Amino acid sequence: MQLHYIANTSVPSTSGKTLPVIDPSDGQIFDEIQRGNAEDIDLAARAARQCFDNVWSKFTAAERGRLLMRLSQKVAECAEELAALEQRDCGKPTKQAKADALALARYFEFYAGAGDKFHGETIPYLDGYSVLTWREPHGVTGHIIPWNYPMQIFGRSVGGALAAGNVCVVKPSEDACLSLIRVAKLAAEVGFPSGVINIVTGYGHEVGDALARHSEIDHISFTGSPKVGTLIQQVAAERHCPVTLELGGKSPQIVFADADLDAVIPTVINAIVQNAGQTCSAGSRLLVQQEIYEELLDRLGKAFSNLRVGPANMDLDVGPLIRQTQQQRVWDFLSDAQVANIPMVAQGQVVAEAPESGYYQAPTLLRDVPITHRLSQEEVFGPVLCAMPFKDEDEAVKLANATQFGLVAGVWTRDGGRQFRMAKRLKSGQVFINNYGAGGGVELPFGGVKSSGYGREKGFEALYGFTALKTVAIKHG
Ligand code: NAD
Repeated sequence: MQLHYIANTSVPSTSGKTLPVIDPSDGQIFDEIQRGNAEDIDLAARAARQCFDNVWSKFTAAERGRLLMRLSQKVAECAEELAALEQRDCGKPTKQAKADALALARYFEFYAGAGDKFHGETIPYLDGYSVLTWREPHGVTGHIIPWNYPMQIFGRSVGGALAAGNVCVVKPSEDACLSLIRVAKLAAEVGFPSGVINIVTGYGHEVGDALARHSEIDHISFTGSPKVGTLIQQVAAERHCPVTLELGGKSPQIVFADADLDAVIPTVINAIVQNAGQTCSAGSRLLVQQEIYEELLDRLGKAFSNLRVGPANMDLDVGPLIRQTQQQRVWDFLSDAQVANIPMVAQGQVVAEAPESGYYQAPTLLRDVPITHRLSQEEVFGPVLCAMPFKDEDEAVKLANATQFGLVAGVWTRDGGRQFRMAKRLKSGQVFINNYGAGGGVELPFGGVKSSGYGREKGFEALYGFTALKTVAIKHG
């Protein structure tokens, strides 16, 4: 049984209620988490405030950095254990689960070194004045985390917040808590003071909502769906609490006729099947210049047919989806495709060893998907790639920008001028040219425009969001 982790202590929910933890590979319950409530959030927020006021705010940036570095090393040492927890909890194939644990260690390493290099400015002003700016922590930051990359999102969000001098109250997804509770305990082991990292588990509408409303929470970092992002903004607006929103995407991969298709094909496939397509930055739309549309679909179709799906510990190309409702969501999209006569090019295969009770979905390549269809407009959050042709640069830009989202775009072309023109014209938080994701570097600021959210996490840029700027003007004559 998993407990909340508040003030470096494992505690049950004040209500005594729990929720089951289900393994997506076989649909079986294997553990329990606490079903928290507003009272539990209140305990965590007060512990965090106490710690911020009396302890953490006295730490220098260098001291915070040293602790983060120790935590990075501890996470790296425990990477196998953390990966195993997240694999069972979220259905991640072994390679992905290990990569996520190591990315968590790398986030802490990056932010360990960043905090003491982050500072304000002096501003030339009137004669007789000196003006300077201070970058001050908000105080207690709230972090609401989704289930698709718990460790990575905890790393980028909590890592940046701690480096900037905040203390954290974290609400993991009800579907993905185990690795994060363990990381909070590791933080205590390496010397983080009581109250710096607090974890309260439970449902979003109970614990998440209480966190967003709590008067001791000075900033909210939310990563999740646009729908819940709207609710968070509304709640936060009532008390003017600043918010960072990392929301969804419907990201295009745009392939011009002069692209290197040998490089395009594996990258396009990985960008839609990684984590079973449950990735905010999944390359879920494929826009292809008409001269090479048939050739590329033919080659991609053959590759899709060879993709294999199965239990997380078989470490195949694709693992299960997170839960039954997510599987149903993907089925609904695919049945809408059938009704609209959208042609299927190819599908991968679910292996015979996959238990019937697991939440599997074969990767699916669809073609000629109209831009107005919901498959082109909404996040499927499953391994479904939607292809459509385009004529020229203008049409590619128009189609790429024709959704409510603006998270990531990939452009494949050897033409240097076009690379820059496309990067400028795409409405997107990130543009990748002749690659997609650049290996996910923790140094690279990440976030969206339009319904993909606002604010940036990752990299040095995140530290701006996790601090408030104070201007100090001194008249000394
Ligand atoms: P979700 O919005 O359902 O849940 C996210 C978190 O919010 C969970 O912890 C959930 O419990 C909590 N929550 C739910 N209702 C709430 C409420 N009323 N008040 C407060 N908190 C509440 O999203 P999900 O299904 O867990 O994750 C998938 C979504 O996350 C996708 O849309 C995906 O694109 C997005 N995402 C975005 C990024 C990014 O960096 N932009 C990264 C990962 C995932």
